[in-house]
Amino acid sequence: MAQDTYRNFKELQDKEPRNNYNIVEKRRNTSPVAIIAPHGGKIEYHTSLICKQIAKHDYSYYCFEGKRHNKNCELHITSTNFDEPKCLDLISSCNIVVAIHGCKNPQSDRNPQSELTYLGGKDDSLKTEIRSRLEESGFSVDECAKFSGSHKDNICNRGARKKGVQLEITRTLRNKLKECPDKLNRYTEAIRAAIRDEIGKNR
Ligand SMILES: [Zn+2]
Repeated sequence: MAQDTYRNFKELQDKEPRNNYNIVEKRRNTSPVAIIAPHGGKIEYHTSLICKQIAKHDYSYYCFEGKRHNKNCELHITSTNFDEPKCLDLISSCNIVVAIHGCKNPQSDRNPQSELTYLGGKDDSLKTEIRSRLEESGFSVDECAKFSGSHKDNICNRGARKKGVQLEITRTLRNKLKECPDKLNRYTEAIRAAIRDEIGKNR
C-alpha cells in the first residue's frame, strides 16, 4: 500500500469536503459486539456491505465510506492511525470488535487461491473460532505477517478488551460475496456463529 495521504482523521477532515465521505453508525447498546469497516464505500469495495450483513439487526456497526468520484484510496487512513472519534467511542464499550477490510488477491505464483480471508488481530480466541467456522462453511483462511493486525493501535485492538480481529478479504472473494447472496449469507453466518461461540465462552 502506498503512503497514506492523511496520517489521521483530523487531517482528512481539515482537507476533504464533507460530501467526499460518509460515516454510518448503528448502535445497539445491548450488544457487546461491534463490526466495523474503516475503509468502506469506494475505498475497499464491498466491505461496508459485508460489515452490515454480519451485524444484521443485533450487533452494532460502523462504516467509514469513501464517496469521491475518483482516488478514493486517498481516504484510506491505515488501521494503526485510524482514529475517527465516533468509531473509537463505539468500540470503547464493546468486548468484541471485528474489522472488515479488503486486500488484493495473493500473487498467483505464491498462492493459487484467490478467494481467501487473512485473519489478524490480537483476539486469538475469536480468531480460532472464526477460522474453524469459515473453514466448516467451505471458505479458505490464512494468516500472514503483512496482515497480522497485531499492533496495539490497530483499530480492531482498541475496543474494551484491547484486542479484536481483522478480516482482510481478497478482491475476488469480495466480488463473489457481492454477486451471490447465498454465498454472502454463508460467509456472514459463519462469522456470526463464531461470535456467538465466543460470547458463550466468556459467560
Ligand atoms: Zn482496510
